[in-house]
Parts: sequence; C-alpha cells; structure tokens
Amino acid sequence: MTTLLGEVSDFLASRPMKLFIGGRWVDAVRKGRFETRDPGTGKVLAEVAAAEQEDVNRAVEAAQQAFKKSGWPALPANDRAVVLHRLADLIDKHQDILAQIESLDVGKPIAQAVGFDIPFAAQTLRYYADLSVHTRRREPIAVSGHEAYTLRVPYGVCAVVVPWNFPFLLLSWGISPALAAGNVAVVKPAEDTPLSAIYFCHLAQQAGVPDGVINVIPGLGEPAGAALAAHPGIRRMSFTGSPEVGRSVAAACGANLVPVKLELGGKGAAVLFDDIDIDQTASALVSALTLNTGQVCCTATRWLVQESISDQLVECVKTRLEDLHIGYGLSLETEMGPVVSAKQKDRVLGYLRRGAVEGASVLLPGGEAEIPEFKGGFYVKPALLTGPPENVCAQEEIFGPVAYVMRFRTEDEAVDLANRSFYGLANSVWSKNLERAHRVAEAMVAGNSWINAHNVFNLGIPYGGTNLSGFGGGVLGPETLFDYLRPQSVVRPVS
Ligand code: NAD
Repeated sequence: MTTLLGEVSDFLASRPMKLFIGGRWVDAVRKGRFETRDPGTGKVLAEVAAAEQEDVNRAVEAAQQAFKKSGWPALPANDRAVVLHRLADLIDKHQDILAQIESLDVGKPIAQAVGFDIPFAAQTLRYYADLSVHTRRREPIAVSGHEAYTLRVPYGVCAVVVPWNFPFLLLSWGISPALAAGNVAVVKPAEDTPLSAIYFCHLAQQAGVPDGVINVIPGLGEPAGAALAAHPGIRRMSFTGSPEVGRSVAAACGANLVPVKLELGGKGAAVLFDDIDIDQTASALVSALTLNTGQVCCTATRWLVQESISDQLVECVKTRLEDLHIGYGLSLETEMGPVVSAKQKDRVLGYLRRGAVEGASVLLPGGEAEIPEFKGGFYVKPALLTGPPENVCAQEEIFGPVAYVMRFRTEDEAVDLANRSFYGLANSVWSKNLERAHRVAEAMVAGNSWINAHNVFNLGIPYGGTNLSGFGGGVLGPETLFDYLRPQSVVRPVS
C-alpha cells in the first residue's frame, strides 16, 4: 500500500474546501456543501463548498474583470507561455501529491495516476503554451484595393465543465488551449471528484497566474453546471460528459449563441480479424476494458470477432480477467480499482440485469466484487456478454468493465456492425493485413479509428467525436488552439 503523503492528509483535513474565485478562497454564498467519497472504502473523503447561481455569477464576473484588467489576454504569447510552463513544472513537482489525490477521489490505481493522468496534464499545458508562441495572431490578406489583415483574438470567459473519470487530465485538456490563447476560465469539476482541481488552484497561484484567470467552482450539476452553461457572460463553452447533459448544455449555449465544444460518451468497437495474434490482442483488450475500471468514454466495449477465432479469443480473455487483481487504488498490486460511486456501481449492475432480461448470454458474469479489507467500496468484476446487436448492453454506454462480444463472417458485416451505433467516438481494427485494416478504419464512422491498438492519445493528434459523441472541434490537435481564438478582419480601402 502506498503511504499517504503528509501534504495529502493536510489537504484533505481542510474542511470545507472552498471555491476559488478571483484568486481568493471563498465559501459558497448560500453556504451549501457536498461530500466527496473515497470509492475504495465508501467513506467521506472531503466536504466541499457547493457553488450555486450566485457563486457562478461571482466567478464569471471575476473572470471578466481578469480579462479586462489582469493583462493576461494582451500579454505577448511568450510571456503567457512562461507562466503556463511554470505551472506545468509545478504539476510535475507535485506529481505524487496530485496522483494520490486523484487515486483517492476516483479510485483509480495509483500507477495509472502517476504514469498517465498527471504527467499528461502537464504535457498538455506545455504543448498549447508552445503552440501559442508559434501562432501568428495577425495574418495579412492579399486583396486588391485594400489593406487588410485578420487578427486572432481570445474570446473572453471560457466555461469548462468536466466529468469524474479523468478529472485532472480533462481539466488540463479543457483549460490549456483556452489559457494559452489568452482567455480566462471558469471551471466546474464533477461533484464526485473535485479534489485535484481544487489542489491545482494552489499551484496556479504559485505559478503566478493572475487572479481571476483561473476560477474553480465545485458544485452539483444542476445548480452549478447548468447556471454556468446558461450564464450570458461566458463567451465559449467546453463540456465533457454524457450526451444527456450535453444536450442541455448545448441548448443553453444555443439560447445565448455561445460556441460550444461537446466531448460526450461512446460505445467503441474493436473489430478483430482472424489473422491476429490472439494472445497479444487478448491482453490489449483486457487492458482497454479494465483501464479506469472501464470508465473511459472511448474504450472498446463492443468486440466484433471473426467467427473462426471467437471461442479461442473469449477463452483467452476470460482467463486473464479472472486473474485480474481488483483492489484499492493506492495498493500497488491493484490492476483495477472500484467504480467511482455507489450510483455508478448500481448502473453497471443494472445494465447486466437488463442485458440478461433482453436475452444476452453470459460469457463471464461480472457483478459485485467482495474485497474483504474494503467492505464499503464500490467494487465490480469485469463481465463479458454476447448476443444480438440490438441488446441494450450492445447499444448503450455502460461505463464500467463490461464488453459485449459479437461474431462476424465478412469484412462488410464487421463494418456494418461497427457502425450500428448512435455514438461515434472511437473504434479500432485488429489485423496483420494492413491494407484491410486501413480500409476498415476509414469505413467506421467515428472521430477516431485506431489500428492494432485501442485508446491512443497523443498531443498533436486531434481527438473528438461525431454523432452522439459530440462536436465542436475536439481536443489535443493543434487546431484546438484556434477554437479559442476568434477571427477579426481589419480592412482599409486604398485608392
Ligand atoms: P455527466 O454528464 O453526468 O456530468 C458531467 C459534468 O456535467 C459534471 O461536472 C456534472 O456535474 C455536470 N452537469 C450535470 N448536469 C449538468 C447540467 N444540467 N448542466 C451543466 N452541467 C451539468 O457525466 P459524468 O457521469 O460525469 O461522466 C461520464 C460521461 O462523460 C460518459 O458519458 C463519458 O463517456 C463522458 N466522457 C466523455 C469524454 C470525451 O472525451 N468524449 C471523456 C470523458 C468522459
């Protein structure tokens, strides 16, 4: 078991944790609070001030003031990048603290937080800081009879609402391009996992980010998130979460004509042809399914397997899943932690029941996992189902370690099955025949098609969804910086 760092215990002892508005730590106006729990034990981890409409107003006003008066938007990109690099360096320096906070709040294995979530967040800040330095903010336009140019200027207040599965990483994906472009941000973390965003504000202060440039207002979805999305003072919205909430956020932004970026759910397919190395691919699928306890929007949850290898692949996967070490996030031997909340556990178990009622056959039953030392935790076992493509477990996002296996005979059949989804976030195709693999990768309708790999994220490669998985430009690509810069033409007719 990883020993809890003194800094983490001290951080958790501060009750209630406050809102960070205009560079100050403040209580919520109505004094509301909520609790965040350790998913590994079910016990309360921290008590947090709950933002509501009045706090959203204060945060947006503080951000507006910072946009007008802090000098942040007008700073040369280089100077802003220096501050963002300093912030990234502080994330690296505090990596162990942030990783423990993230592991405790989400339940994820500490090795994943240390090796992926936290360093990737720092890299994202650096990537957009560096990109902004090399971005031309004033482009001359060659047009007869006019002197003309296009300016690229920041929008103003950007609202960022994030979910609970990768709280720190998604915070960085949301704010990095916005801040590097010269905008200011109001962030609403998820109520299940607000802690790393709160800790981050201490680092932002240390890095010298001007007051009001980053505001963090934890709170519940309805009062806080909805109020932020509908606030007339915001100029851009970035929302990562479920399609249901995404719709209401988009409607609120539509009413105010605010551009919105939606990063929503998924139901990723992995198409497996019969020329694969079954052992290797089984390992890769198990990693994908159990990553973050299956609470990954783009992961492979529909496994489309060519008929001749289906039984062998399933047996191989089952053996590995049965051997998986399920446990507490801070235990070093844990390969898969709990799901984030009792609600999420009920959701996963509920889908297993509904799938069975609709006629799915059970290849591996899944269900509740008993961890004797951590009785109150929200642990589930991985499950494998099979059956017709109409089954609810083949159609809807479960957001847990549950895969639905379907067989196919031909390439056309595989593509057809992969595309029988309202979602369009990410799929993968597995084959030694790269010509076929590319053909299938291009025919599957989604924002991302991976070949012989699943869950590939890289700065510089755009990542986003289509259809029910969202719209608005995605993240991680270089053009995301331009999503946070509005064009403005300046023209003078010359005779
Ligand atoms: P959610 O939609 O319930 O909540 C997301 C955030 O929205 C939370 O901060 C929540 O408090 C807030 N919220 C809730 N109601 C709101 C409202 N009416 N107005 C504004 N904000 C509101 O999603 P979740 O359960 O936290 O996260 C899981 C979902 O997120 C899954 O569907 C998953 O696929 C998706 N997700 C997508 C990506 C991506 O990059 N495409 C990444 C991670 C998660």
